[in-house]
Amino acid sequence: MDTKKSNNIGYVGRFAPTPTGALHLGSVVTAVASYIRAKQNKGKWLLRIDDLDKKRERNGSRDLILRGISSLGLEWDGLSSQGDNLVDYRQSMNFLAEKGLTYNCACSRKKLPKGPYLGTCREKKLSPDENRSIRVKTPDTTISFCDSVFGKIQGNVFSEMGDFVIKPRDEVAAYQLAVVIDDAKSEITEVVRGADLLRSTLMQLCLYRTLQLTPPLFMHIPVVRDSRNIKLSKRSGAKPVDINDSQSALKFALDYLGFELPSHLEKASCRELLVWAIQSPETSFLKTVQSRFSTEVKNVFSSL
Ligand code: GLU
Repeated sequence: MDTKKSNNIGYVGRFAPTPTGALHLGSVVTAVASYIRAKQNKGKWLLRIDDLDKKRERNGSRDLILRGISSLGLEWDGLSSQGDNLVDYRQSMNFLAEKGLTYNCACSRKKLPKGPYLGTCREKKLSPDENRSIRVKTPDTTISFCDSVFGKIQGNVFSEMGDFVIKPRDEVAAYQLAVVIDDAKSEITEVVRGADLLRSTLMQLCLYRTLQLTPPLFMHIPVVRDSRNIKLSKRSGAKPVDINDSQSALKFALDYLGFELPSHLEKASCRELLVWAIQSPETSFLKTVQSRFSTEVKNVFSSL
């Protein structure tokens, strides 16, 4: 399958927030990390609103997110939303179906036991139906990738997750498929995002392979946790960032990512802080993230 338009060889990064609320410190860290990484590589930084899941979308979130990002001084080189790619999702599903790599599934998600999907509907040859989801047949092989922060990550998607859903019964496409198509279409060369998605990356790599698309590189950033050690998220009630005091949020993100601000930048604007961070040596950012979170990096294998 070919979703690419050009043979762009420059760095293209992205930030892909879901419009379920305003930015919080966790999403600011990911946005800032992906922006600095793109700009240190003299690349483009694209903003994509992941608005596929309409049930979770909150009115006005898109504007809040855009305003939040602008207030942080992060300038995007392109803006899109998953709503732009619905035809591409359908095409990719057809491509997989024609190769016999997908099947319709009548299992109810709620009734399935925890753990990998055991392939109950794999051989049933069920016809498509609005009450059925579509799953992809996963290969029984080890998939691996080298994450810029976490190092070598590997797993067998078939035995650990099983055939996974690429189209839920009541949605246009599942996140795992959509993100692959979105990133391939935008020619993303490196995905920088939260480490809560490390495990998902293995499933996405399966799809890159079956769709015959070239995967990007990956850099997962250890997630920001609150005092209860719970990942900051809109669901866990993380507070929205105050856009009238974006400097504080940006300084938090830079500190989290290991940038040591010189004292003369104490009162600097967001743009000045970002320009300074982009000019800092590229390797120091990576090394600091790795050493600061070495325990998290080591523990990733037991938590996967
Ligand atoms: N939209 C997803 C989220 O906000 C991120 C997707 C990604 O970076 O791959 O969690």
